[in-house]
Amino acid sequence: MMADQLRVAGIIEHAAKWHGETEIVSRLPEGGIHRGTYAQAHARSKQLANALLRLGVADGDRVATIAWNTHRHFELYYGVAGIGAVCHTINPRLFPEQLVYIINHAEDRLLFFDLTFLPLVEKLAPACPKVEKWVLMAGPEYLPAASALPGLCSYEDLLAAESTDYEWPMLDENTACSLCYTSGTTAEPKGVLYSHRSTLLHAMAISLPDALNCSALDVIMPVVPMFHVNAWGLPYAAPLNGAKLVLPGAGMDAASLYELFESEGVTFSAGVPTIWLGLLQFMREGGRQFTSLRRTVVGGSACPPALMKAFEEELGVTIMHAWGMTETSPLGTAGHLKPKHQGLSPADSRAVRAKQGRVVFGADMKIVGDDGQALPHDGVAFGDLLVRGPWVVADYFRSGTPGELTADGWFRTGDVATIDPDGFMQITDRSKDVIKSGGEWISSIDLENLAVAHPAVAEAAVIGVPSAKWSERPLLVVVRRPGMDVSAEELLGFFKGKVAKFSEPDAVEFVEQLPHTATGKILKTQLRKDFAGYSIA
Ligand code: ADP
Repeated sequence: MMADQLRVAGIIEHAAKWHGETEIVSRLPEGGIHRGTYAQAHARSKQLANALLRLGVADGDRVATIAWNTHRHFELYYGVAGIGAVCHTINPRLFPEQLVYIINHAEDRLLFFDLTFLPLVEKLAPACPKVEKWVLMAGPEYLPAASALPGLCSYEDLLAAESTDYEWPMLDENTACSLCYTSGTTAEPKGVLYSHRSTLLHAMAISLPDALNCSALDVIMPVVPMFHVNAWGLPYAAPLNGAKLVLPGAGMDAASLYELFESEGVTFSAGVPTIWLGLLQFMREGGRQFTSLRRTVVGGSACPPALMKAFEEELGVTIMHAWGMTETSPLGTAGHLKPKHQGLSPADSRAVRAKQGRVVFGADMKIVGDDGQALPHDGVAFGDLLVRGPWVVADYFRSGTPGELTADGWFRTGDVATIDPDGFMQITDRSKDVIKSGGEWISSIDLENLAVAHPAVAEAAVIGVPSAKWSERPLLVVVRRPGMDVSAEELLGFFKGKVAKFSEPDAVEFVEQLPHTATGKILKTQLRKDFAGYSIA
C-alpha cells in the first residue's frame, strides 16, 4: 500500500475537491451571517498558511485561538495544522489567571481572537510577553483606534495580502496538529497534544453509523465550542463526509441557536446537557417545533433521562448519549442499540441509551478494582475506568510529571463506571465525586438525574457531606424552576422507591444558581467549599 500520511490538510483538500460547493455558514461575532463553501475555506486556509510562513511560524510552533465557532476558526484549524504548526484552542471561559498560565505554558507565538474577546485579550496581553502578534478575527474596520496589543492586525487584512497558491507538505502523520488544555475541573489545566494521525483516525471513527453517524446528507451544527476538545471532532468529520457545516459564533442563547437550526436546515447537532436544557425550556415556552433537526449528541456530563424523553417525545429529536474527555479526543463511547434491543418500547430503549454507551473501535476500555484487577462486565460491579487507543493521551504536554498511565499502558480516566454484559458502559461518578456511605458507594449522577426529573427542579447537584455514623451522606442542592415551588420534604419523598434506601439523599438545600466550570459542568469542588461545615447525623 502507499505510504500516504494521515494529515488534517487532506480533509479540507478532499472537501474542496469533492464537495466544493457545500456550504459552511457562520454567525459572526461582529454581527451578520457569513456564507462560504468548502472550496473557499480551502483557498483561505492556504492564504492563511502563506501568511503564517511569512510571519516566521515554524514547525511545531503554537498558534493560539480564543474564538467562537466560525469559518475563520475553521480555517485556522486547517491553515495552522497544514503547515506543521500547532493550533492551540483556548477556552475563554476559564479564569484570567488560568488563561495566562495556559498561554505561557504553551508558549503561544501568535494569538487569534474574536472581536468579543478584545477587552479580555487586552487584559491578558501584559502577562503574556511571548505572544509576538495578536490578530483580530474580523475585517480591518473592526480594529480599535488605539491598542497596546503587540503587532495587532486584522485577519482579513492578513489573508488579503496572500496568494491562494500553496502545496500542503506531506508531514509525518505523527506530527502534532492541535493542542487543548483540560478545563481543570479537578486540577491545574493540562495540555493534550493531538497528532494528525490521531485526529484523522478519530474523525473517521466518529463518522461511523454507531458513533455519530455523519453523512453528506447532513447539515451539522456543533454547538459544543471549537475550543472544547475540537468541538468533539465535528469540524473534521463534517468536511470529511461532505456535510454542510453551520457554526453558531457567539450566539449561544436558545433563541439564536433555534433561528440557525431553522434557517439553515440543521439535521444534526451536538452539545452539553446545559445547552439542551435551556433550549427545551425555550421550545416549550413558545410551543415551538424543529422542522429539520432530527438528532443530537449529548455528552460532557451525564444526559438526564428526563431530557432525552422530552426531546424525543415533545420535539421528535433523538438524543445520542456519548462519553469522552479531552484526553480521549474525545469520543470513547456512544449509546446505540444492538439487535437484541430492537422492538423495545420507547421507554425501555431510552433506558439502554441513557447509559454512556458502547465502545467505539479505537478506544478500548476496562474497569478495575482498587487492586488493579479487571472487574466483570455484569452491569453491577463498578471500578476505575481505564482507556487505551490511538487517540488516547499518553502524557500531558510539557507536564514534567508522569502521566496517568498504568504500568501496562492504560489511561486512568478518573471516572468510575460499570460495563454491562452487552458492553454498555455507564459512568456512576468521577472518582472524586463518589459518595462513600457506610461501606456503600452512592452515585451522585443517579441522584442528580432523578432530581431533574421533578417538574419544579431546573438543576440539581449531589455532594457527599460528613456524617458521624456513615462517614458521608448525600446532600441534594437544587435550583428551582422559575415560578415553581417545592419543599425539601416533597423532594426527598420523590426519591422513595426509585433508588436503594441507603442512596436516598438526607437533606436538600435550595440555591439561586449552581457554580459551573468553563465547560458547563457543575463545579463540585466549589460546591463542597460552599457547604463546608455542613454535616448530617
Ligand atoms: P475536564 O476533565 O477538564 O472537566 P473534559 O471535557 O475533558 O474536561 O471532561 C471529561 C469528563 O467529563 C469525563 O471524564 C467525565 O467525567 C465527564 N463526562 C463526559 N461525558 C460524560 C457523559 N456522557 N456522562 C457523564 N460524564 C461525562
